[in-house]
Amino acid sequence: MSSVRRFILQHSRILAKQRPFAQGTALSVFVFNFTGKPVARIVMKFGGTSVADIDRIRNVAAHVKREVEAGNEVAVVVSAMAGKTNELVSWTREIAPMHDAREYDVVVSSGEQVTSGLLAMALQTEGVDARSWQGWQIPLKTDNAHGAARIMDIDAELLISRISGGQVAVIAGFQGIGPDNRVATLGRGGSDTSAVAIAAAIKADRCDIYTDVDGVYTTDPRIEPRARRMDRISFEEMLEMASLGAKVLQVRSVEMAMVHGVRTFVRSSFDDPASINSQSGTDELAGTLICDEDEIVEQEVVTGIAYTKDEAQISLRRVPDRPGISAAIFGPLADNHINVDMIVQSVSEDGSKTDMTFTVSEGDVNKAKQVLEEARSGINYEIIQSDTGLAKISVIGIGMRSHAGVASTAFAALAEKNINIRAITTSEIKFSILIDSDYTELAVRTLHSVYGLNQ
Ligand code: ASP
Ligand code: MG
Repeated sequence: MSSVRRFILQHSRILAKQRPFAQGTALSVFVFNFTGKPVARIVMKFGGTSVADIDRIRNVAAHVKREVEAGNEVAVVVSAMAGKTNELVSWTREIAPMHDAREYDVVVSSGEQVTSGLLAMALQTEGVDARSWQGWQIPLKTDNAHGAARIMDIDAELLISRISGGQVAVIAGFQGIGPDNRVATLGRGGSDTSAVAIAAAIKADRCDIYTDVDGVYTTDPRIEPRARRMDRISFEEMLEMASLGAKVLQVRSVEMAMVHGVRTFVRSSFDDPASINSQSGTDELAGTLICDEDEIVEQEVVTGIAYTKDEAQISLRRVPDRPGISAAIFGPLADNHINVDMIVQSVSEDGSKTDMTFTVSEGDVNKAKQVLEEARSGINYEIIQSDTGLAKISVIGIGMRSHAGVASTAFAALAEKNINIRAITTSEIKFSILIDSDYTELAVRTLHSVYGLNQ
């Protein structure tokens, strides 16, 4: 790199420091590479299927090389090879069902160590300057919750100096270092969160998530083949989509992107690297940009339909209608780490007794019932009932904030198909309905079409 460029880069970093966290977009205007295009700093994240074997790792190296040759500064975050983490998890269970979470982390973090080293080698073979980084080397500091740790701080100074000097950083996703000085993992799917957090810390212009799908769809294309890939989706909508069942990204990574304003681009790693122009903007590339709603010009009222199966419903009948009753029911459930989702309290007929209905995931239903049986004397319900085999269908769109009647359209459409709605919840930008799981596909297709999302 010429000393001129280095000089400009150093100055652009100073400019970057004065800007709010992770809002580095404007700074690239000051820096140009030899092709005359602004230098972008990007994070490229590759999931398990993208690094599943040696050929695919070579393909990833070709994608990375392409960005480097376009003059960009690159940090790569990798997952373990597809299936590897599952295998490692199963070994920990086999050796000791009640194992020590710190040792679990030592074992399950190893998949990413392997792929980071292999990708660094593949890049070096291609003549690209590259170096692998484990979480502790950065360091990416987490809290002490081994197995589901949260990122507390990333000291990105060393990383930034290496990548701005032209070296590709190949970072093992999913892992960091806890206050106990031991490796800590971020929960399943956590390398998405690693990537977005790194992007925020190094003030990247963009975080590209390369995966086995080419973007975020209006609904699951396996259910509705007419589902469309969205060009753009807002952080808020993506957060709802991810929380409500779309499995493209770990929910935490979307929260992180939203908080730090990290423009995140979901794209396919199976596209031929040679056919991609790295200097194109995201609108010309195949993929979905998750960004601020201000960046979305044509906002639809409804953006997407998400669903989760394996929901269960629990009803407590004839509960005393008195202050503190919700706390008496949901307190013990929370203490037992049971996630309660939809809650419906019916108006009591005589003002003294009411019914309380709520949903939990099917896997939690027996435990929830047991907890409620134990808390029975404190709650004083007459009957406890439960039902499994339910599904939650959610309709999401920022446009709902300013449009009335969005939900009633759904109710009418589902009634026409004879689908019974058991419960409804709404919030500012989404509503969810609970139905029998057998009708999931029909409900998703019906709603996808009624909101004009079909291709
Ligand atoms: N390899 C880890 C997992 O399978 C992390 C990730 O891929 O995001 O959960
Ligand atoms: Mg994943």
